[in-house]
Amino acid sequence: MSLPDGVERRSFDDRQRLATRGDPVYGEPTDGPWRLWDAGRSKLGAMLELGLDTGLSGGESVLYLGAASGTTVSHVADFAGPTYAVEFAPRPTRDLVDVAAARPTLFPLLKDARRPETYAHVVESGLDVLVQDVATRGQARVAARNRTFLDPDGRLLAAIKARSEDVTRDPSAVFEDVLDDLRGSYEVLETARLDRYHDDHLAVVARPRE
Ligand code: SAM
Repeated sequence: MSLPDGVERRSFDDRQRLATRGDPVYGEPTDGPWRLWDAGRSKLGAMLELGLDTGLSGGESVLYLGAASGTTVSHVADFAGPTYAVEFAPRPTRDLVDVAAARPTLFPLLKDARRPETYAHVVESGLDVLVQDVATRGQARVAARNRTFLDPDGRLLAAIKARSEDVTRDPSAVFEDVLDDLRGSYEVLETARLDRYHDDHLAVVARPRE
């Protein structure tokens, strides 16, 4: 699957790895203007490494839920258009604000992704992409509530963490339940286990139901 414009494979330590162009954020290796996008530290990076059909081509408008300190969303802002980054923990959001200082199209929001009505006045609707990596219970519900921001032809790119739903159950069973819930508001287009990079995580590509 092709990579979005602004994402390339470049040689780091004699291996071809993903890279974007932008200011370094987390001590990642650089090659001129390019900085390594480490799939081991980024579920979206892992989705691209594994060749999922994310639909990303570069320049998209993005709502990113679970931005943490900005590791992944900084790469997204390097190749995407306006990128709204929601995180509810104050400490990582402080780092995220620093990351955004060098990226004029990245907008950090200290908000709870379970309550989209609290940022609906800031985030535009008709967005191209909703990226979700919240690692919290009720991941399907979070995606359902934020569907309102997506264009009908938009894409949900979600990383579902089994242990956030139930530490005691078999991850495959958890994923089936989450997918069942997701299907109430999305058509699931593709799924893939991310275990090569992230234990007990499922990647989901979906589009909003009419
Ligand atoms: N996506 C990040 C990255 O790749 O750089 C890592 C995200 S980390 C796995 C999950 C993040 O989601 C945490 O920072 C956590 O505070 C945040 N989170 C969990 N529940 C949330 C919620 N309801 N609203 C906003 N952020 C939430």
